[in-house]
Amino acid sequence: MAQEDLFKKLVAHCKEYGYVFQSSEIYDGLAAVYDYGQYGVELKNNIKKYWWDSLVRLHENVVGLDSAIFMHPTIWKASGHVDAFNDPLIDNKDSKKRYRADVLIEDQMAKYEAKIKKEVEKAKKRFGDSFDEAQFVSTNPRVLANQEKLDKLHGRFVKALNDSDLVELRQIIVDEEIVCPISGSKNWTDVRQFNLMFSTEMGSTSESANKIYLRPETAQGIFVNYLNVQKSGRMKIPFGIAQIGKAFRNEIVARQFIFRMREFEQMEMQFFVPPGSELEWFETWKETRMKWHRALGFGDEKYRFHDHDKLAHYANAATDIEFEFPFGFKEVEGIHSRTDFDLESHQEYSGKKLQYFDPETNKNYVPFVVETSIGVDRMFLQIISAAYSEETITKEDGSTDSRVVLKLPPALAPVKLAVFPLTKKDGLPEKARTIMHELKFEFNCQYEEKDSIGKRYRRQDAIGTPFCITIDHQTLEDDTVTIRHRDSMKQDRIHWTKLQEIIQEKVSMRKLFETIAE
Ligand code: ATP
Repeated sequence: MAQEDLFKKLVAHCKEYGYVFQSSEIYDGLAAVYDYGQYGVELKNNIKKYWWDSLVRLHENVVGLDSAIFMHPTIWKASGHVDAFNDPLIDNKDSKKRYRADVLIEDQMAKYEAKIKKEVEKAKKRFGDSFDEAQFVSTNPRVLANQEKLDKLHGRFVKALNDSDLVELRQIIVDEEIVCPISGSKNWTDVRQFNLMFSTEMGSTSESANKIYLRPETAQGIFVNYLNVQKSGRMKIPFGIAQIGKAFRNEIVARQFIFRMREFEQMEMQFFVPPGSELEWFETWKETRMKWHRALGFGDEKYRFHDHDKLAHYANAATDIEFEFPFGFKEVEGIHSRTDFDLESHQEYSGKKLQYFDPETNKNYVPFVVETSIGVDRMFLQIISAAYSEETITKEDGSTDSRVVLKLPPALAPVKLAVFPLTKKDGLPEKARTIMHELKFEFNCQYEEKDSIGKRYRRQDAIGTPFCITIDHQTLEDDTVTIRHRDSMKQDRIHWTKLQEIIQEKVSMRKLFETIAE
């Protein structure tokens, strides 16, 4: 199936099964804003728990925080967001569509990469086991030609970004003959900078009202509280502060469903370290965060690091963890070495000292910061796109059937088990409810008695429920039930009192945490 079709199906599936709805749908929607339905909110909560516990519970020196969305407006001056939180935008004069110039160029680079990958795949098939990939990519003329184009383009792009050269960005788009995907034309406007912050007013009268911003990142709430936490928690450097919360960006091009939203949620951790040790910590957190992603079991080859082409004004090292979405490798998380830029700047603007006193060396200093920053919604999309699977099933009588199954990691699945009485009579619903009553204190359970068992299985597969428990007439006699496993569709007959242990073993986050802590 073409990846675009797959993505369309995924979006439709999210709506049909109560994961994600367009915001304000009955009013024709609000662009790039989404609501999470009954299963979506559970998955989101589980993602947040997986992130939070892996940092705050597994690391003695990481603590949490929940700072307000509204903050003093000077904070955004100090952080550089008022002056420099811009995206370069370009309009196509024919379609009147607006694009991010950097994204158009990045997509063009991805096209060269895809061409190279295709050549390699073709050759792999042709040569079989004797294929030497390193030799092929260093000698094949078509690969070399595309690599040369890619390197040249990359070099120009990095230079233009670092020089903030908007004219050159436009020229690259022209020289590469990049066309608007809607109109197909190369009729481009100039490139302009566009600030992404939303603002509103605080105060009762227009004269006294203050312009304030909806935070575009949660990190600043951590910086301005770092001494409060350090002192009240008697924290010793190195230590981290983690926070989950909403962020708002007036994204120019908000496409690809919940990949790029105007209101979204971030999970950020700022780790405070002695000056000079930041690049070592940067490597440590890169590794830890990659383990967190890979522990979910979607396949290590689906993830890669991508170092930033242009470092932000506050960073001395930065990389992204990218995942292979149906629309290519894209950023899910950023890991940034933010130096002492933010704390120094807040010292200057607030006039308050933000130094740490090191009791071991008897010295004061402004710590350096390594940040890990991931979007909850983007992680949600990553998980759901990796989990979505269409399967053909061969039945016992040789006939075939198909199913859509969300192969969510059991620890993150919204519903852990569904309980089905085989029929609606003979005391089976009562028995099913008694069993569910015992299990609901441990797990999110769902009770279903409508439709055939086969239909009920399909529905739970589509939701991603790892276990279905069927109660039948034999249960009334000997207290055994059928447990059916989502991925293998295997069924076992067991005493119902064994359910808790079997399910717990699979749905607990413990195994994930053990993998990360290895
Ligand atoms: P991009 O280059 O995609 O605009 P960014 O580099 O500006 O992203 P950061 O500022 O590093 O992103 O934000 C950290 C994380 O927050 C991202 O890795 C992503 O998961 C998430 N994120 C950022 N912007 C959005 C958005 N508009 N919608 C959803 N998630 C977002």
